[in-house]
Amino acid sequence: MNSDSKRIAICPGSFDPITLGHLNIIRRSAQIFDEVVVCIMQNSTKTSPMFSIDERVEMVRRAIVRYPNVRVDTASILLAEYARQFKHAVIVKGLRAASDFEYEFQMNLINKKINPELETMFLTSSEKYTFLSSSVVREMAMYGADLTGLVPVELIPDIEKKAKLWRKT
Ligand code: ADP
Repeated sequence: MNSDSKRIAICPGSFDPITLGHLNIIRRSAQIFDEVVVCIMQNSTKTSPMFSIDERVEMVRRAIVRYPNVRVDTASILLAEYARQFKHAVIVKGLRAASDFEYEFQMNLINKKINPELETMFLTSSEKYTFLSSSVVREMAMYGADLTGLVPVELIPDIEKKAKLWRKT
């Protein structure tokens, strides 16, 4: 397939850190689309992240290694602008609850204003991950709780190590 006709899903977020909830949406997108770009947004409104952008890229890379049509990228511009580089890109977002909907609906309207061609699709969260967010993971890590079932197992040591450093500061 020529790269111009590839259907691309952009899964945007902070991924601070990537969770099994994110990975569930990424994996399902990879089954529907030709290619998935996990886009780590350098979001100016979110202060004091747990992981640097480079650390997050490296962690996402390890988490997606078994999906050949998934790759990671970063963006420090608006998502609707970032998406312009692709011919057939769709934003794919996960919806956990009604509270996600209101925010996402608003974001979608803003994105449409900037880039009217750009569509957003929503995948409902898998039932077992509806409670899960990066902030839940950060909070649990800070209290030394077991992260099994919340994040990819291979990332647990990195998160525990970082939480230990944070507890000391
Ligand atoms: P943000 O920084 O915008 O909150 P996140 O990095 O937390 O973004 O999440 C990125 C995307 O992943 C969002 O579309 C969010 O709805 C989705 N997402 C996060 N956690 C889950 C989950 N547990 N189940 C489904 N979707 C999720």
